[in-house]
Amino acid sequence: MTSDFEAQLRAVSMRVTRPRLAVLAALRDHPHVDTDAVIALVRANHPTISHQAVYDVLRALTDAGLVRRIQPGRATARYESRVGDNHHHVVCRSCGAIADVDCVVGHAPCLTASDDHGFVVDEAEVVYWGTCPDCATERISQ
Ligand SMILES: [Zn+2]
Ligand SMILES: [Zn+2]
Repeated sequence: MTSDFEAQLRAVSMRVTRPRLAVLAALRDHPHVDTDAVIALVRANHPTISHQAVYDVLRALTDAGLVRRIQPGRATARYESRVGDNHHHVVCRSCGAIADVDCVVGHAPCLTASDDHGFVVDEAEVVYWGTCPDCATERISQ
């Protein structure tokens, strides 16, 4: 697993460092977490990695395209290491739970905008809003 992360870092000419590996591992195991959660996850295993180091690593990995930053609506920014596949998100209005929604494999129909206004479109970000199963159950039982 770790060697995958090393290969990813090398592919974008980034040095392999312990904080970078720790952040990538945290996001692999816990997709769609906010900055505070990434810090908590990383520091649980690596107490010597500072808050600031995690901030810096998140920014560097996002800039390098290894991490994707999503911010549905006015929610706090979340991070995930699943990048480059044009996947979308379904978000719960009540609790903020987020899940991945795939595009059709090998094809991204949502990239065909009904009117592209002359833009060359290379990415589409769709957010589906609704109520997650947990919140829906809670609402019924109340
Ligand atoms: Zn919910
Ligand atoms: Zn996702």
